[in-house]
Amino acid sequence: MPEPLSTNATPRPALRNQCTICKSNRLYYAFSLKSHRVMRCEDCDLMFLNPQPSDQELTAIYSAEYFLGHDSEEGRRNASELKRATARQYLTEIARYNGAPSGHLLEVGCGEGDFLCEAETAGYEVLGVEYSAAASATASKRLQRGRVQQGELTDAKLPDSHFGVCVLNDVIEHVRDPLAFLREVHRVLRPGGALFIATPCLDSWSARMLKERWMEWKPEHLTYFDGDNIQTALLNAGFQDVLVQPGWKILSFDYVQAHFERFPVPLFTPALRLLGKILPSSVKKKSRRIVASGMMVFSRKAADLPPRLSVIVPAYNEASTFRPMMDALIAKEIAGMEIEIIVIESNSTDGTREIVQQYAEHPRVKLIFEEKPCGKGHAVRTGLAAATGAYVLIQDADLEYDMEDYDSLVQELVSGRHAFVLGSRHGGRNLWKMRQFTGQRSLSTFLNVGHWFFTTLVNVLFWKRLRDPFTMFKVFRRDCLYGLRFTCNRFDFDYELLIRLMQKGYTPFEIPVNYRSRSFKEGKKVSMWRDPLNWLAALVRLRFSKVDTMTEVERTRAVKAALRLDTAPQPPQEVLTNQ
Ligand SMILES: [Zn+2]
Repeated sequence: MPEPLSTNATPRPALRNQCTICKSNRLYYAFSLKSHRVMRCEDCDLMFLNPQPSDQELTAIYSAEYFLGHDSEEGRRNASELKRATARQYLTEIARYNGAPSGHLLEVGCGEGDFLCEAETAGYEVLGVEYSAAASATASKRLQRGRVQQGELTDAKLPDSHFGVCVLNDVIEHVRDPLAFLREVHRVLRPGGALFIATPCLDSWSARMLKERWMEWKPEHLTYFDGDNIQTALLNAGFQDVLVQPGWKILSFDYVQAHFERFPVPLFTPALRLLGKILPSSVKKKSRRIVASGMMVFSRKAADLPPRLSVIVPAYNEASTFRPMMDALIAKEIAGMEIEIIVIESNSTDGTREIVQQYAEHPRVKLIFEEKPCGKGHAVRTGLAAATGAYVLIQDADLEYDMEDYDSLVQELVSGRHAFVLGSRHGGRNLWKMRQFTGQRSLSTFLNVGHWFFTTLVNVLFWKRLRDPFTMFKVFRRDCLYGLRFTCNRFDFDYELLIRLMQKGYTPFEIPVNYRSRSFKEGKKVSMWRDPLNWLAALVRLRFSKVDTMTEVERTRAVKAALRLDTAPQPPQEVLTNQ
């Protein structure tokens, strides 16, 4: 088993004082892996070796015996068979995400070409890049039409915007600078081209269970992602439409046991050894689909969008507050950001429609008139479908929130640190008294108890520690909605949006905002009894219904193809307009 050298003939790279992904300098030592320090970014939870091993240490690890099962011809054949079965499964998932196999596919770190052989059979024109000379020679021989270039990705001097698909199969955790590497992949992909990544995941059950004894902690794995920060990395490298799924592989007992013999884990390795003595050899050789320690990540090269914030304003019977709100919104400026305003008016009976119509000529305002009121949720969904900005904010047509807070909310998204931000109404120490209506103390207390109850319920059901999940101030990257479908029409849409985003893997980041609650006399539109019951039902239903983003992506593509709109990958509007 290859061990890192204990003496450093070549020096290790300099210690990093910044997170590679989010640029934070709040880095903390987590634990030591052999003689390597593992550090954690306090802001995005990325974990990485710091300092990284020297070139000489890595060369010693990537010796000829690095690939498992290569001690005998039979072992080599079995290992290759499992890899090809895994490759076929990956190709099926890539086709679900991206459509039928065709065009140019690039695999970086293609090893001996198992994946490329299957991709060629599936119908792609393939090109491999592989660092190891021996592996790239073997891979070249096995391919029919494709070829393999030996070296690193940057050495390959590949043309701009050429490939339709790029595959990084257990590779990104090995590279020294993952962000620079992703940017190079971005350069060679054509616009809308798909990127598939398989990599170990800190959210996987094995990582959570084994902690510091996780089998993926290895000196040659330089960076460790979770489902959240891989998205940050992809976004910062110019990708969008990210889907993260549990990573499975096709493995046999024999293969798993060989892995744990090479990388021993206390208790696990002896247990497997014992089991290996009992199980019949037919069972040990049988291949199975196993979710183990990794994730599969799908994304797409993003179009160059101007920095734009789409503000969605649902308006229904807001005649007294609409104009001051709208004038303030039009006057609002955020440095370096264009603000697009989308008003959805739901056929008010108090003259709001006539006021809304007066803004029709404004170049940054888009007006949508609904024939009849279908609920706030319906109006917001209509607005989301019309949004074109990279970022989205939902603004009620009243004056409960302060627009001065836009800047700090949006800044979190622009920095790439967070995809989904909530403006928390519990500023500072004022934990309890969120709603204070003069002369209506018992009503305020009732609402505050209700708020506490629902907040606790969400935290328990979704294992979060949110303080104000029901704030109107939800700001997120529009591409977070990719692969989601919404059905709630009333105030329960607020829940649906929050919960679907959390289920897709985004943890809301809360920052304090200003808030002044309206009383019912001032026009607050929540029904005291009907809505809480609806919320409760919606919460429970949403908690126990599954989000199947990949099926939704397939369905959307089929709808687009039927409408003959499928000319280029589009932003995720369509998924929202369906009832
Ligand atoms: Zn970070």
